Amino acid sequence: MIPVNTPVLSGNEKKYLAECIDSSWVSSEGPFVGRFESAFADRVNRRHGVSVSSGTAALDVAVAALGIGQGDEVIMPSFTIISCAAAVVRAGAIPVVVDCHSDTWNMDVSQIEARITSRTRAIMVVHIYGLPVDMDPVIALAERYDLSVLEDSAEAIGQTYHGRPCGSFGDISTFSFYANKHVTTGEGGMVVTDDDKLADRCRSLRNLCFQPDRRFVHEELGWNYRFTNVQAAIGLAQLEQLDRTIARKREIGLAYVRLLADCTAIELPVSTMSYSENLFWVFGIVLKDTCEFEAQYVTEQLRKMGIGTRPFFWPIHLQPVFRARGMFCDVVCPVAERLGKRGFYLPSGLGLSDDDVKCVVVTLLEILT
Ligand SMILES: *Cc1c(COP(=O)(O)O)cnc(C)c1O
Repeated sequence: MIPVNTPVLSGNEKKYLAECIDSSWVSSEGPFVGRFESAFADRVNRRHGVSVSSGTAALDVAVAALGIGQGDEVIMPSFTIISCAAAVVRAGAIPVVVDCHSDTWNMDVSQIEARITSRTRAIMVVHIYGLPVDMDPVIALAERYDLSVLEDSAEAIGQTYHGRPCGSFGDISTFSFYANKHVTTGEGGMVVTDDDKLADRCRSLRNLCFQPDRRFVHEELGWNYRFTNVQAAIGLAQLEQLDRTIARKREIGLAYVRLLADCTAIELPVSTMSYSENLFWVFGIVLKDTCEFEAQYVTEQLRKMGIGTRPFFWPIHLQPVFRARGMFCDVVCPVAERLGKRGFYLPSGLGLSDDDVKCVVVTLLEILT
């Protein structure tokens, strides 16, 4: 069996975990939490890092910290994970989606301006599958219309845009440390920002909005989204290995690109843009319209041959949970819809060997031809 992802924990994880156990520091008050937060914030050139329990929690906290609320509109890609829209909807605000590019799979930033109204408060950008969104036009629009920028960098840990770290753009950025992310703590996440007040709000929101002067008296509602010393110990060790992780992810991605280059049934991810080299956080492929097979058929065949895959995101505007609320009734995003139907990703975890990559390719080509 070749699973879609296997994390590798081969650095100081065990050593730091032993320190947690020997010192009996397991809670969010332990010393690794602060060490990991500042090391991670440094890595993405931000002044503050606020760890939380997941990438989804990070989005909740970031949206709330920006003061986004009832009736506000947030522009975001339709092709992304539910967490992005869920955070906005839970805040009482309205997600307004734009379609993506058929080659980069990232939000088509040229469609943003037409969606701006008097109620627009923020643009949420999401770097998809390891290739950054073209940030310069987004930042320019946000300045012109006085909008906040929230950057979801969960899939771009260690990635750069014109040499500048993803996660350093806009007002606030979020990360996830789920098991398939470039830095994993099992579950976990982080909000980063340069703004002292925003950082304070995030720290308060993740910790039930406890007040310093009288504990258990609350003026605002927060969450318990705290991150533990045990998670931070693993995270710090993972962060130490980030450069190696990225190099290996690129190696796996480029091997797939090379081995699949002649396959006429599929579209491959873009390897290089003027502003970034793809990190191939996952290795996605899209069945061409001329390919007779459905994605579900191909992934089922791969599964029978012992190869794990995942389907692409299902567009936000087609999500039953939102449709049932009467949202997105007349929204059409043809590119996102096609990707949702025709795309899936292949195994690309750090645990994958070069032989595994070859085996996946041979099996896939057998099914497709
Ligand atoms: C993984 C991911 C999340 C959610 O992170 P969790 O830690 O699984 O909650 C949010 N946004 C993007 C773009 C992701 O890839």
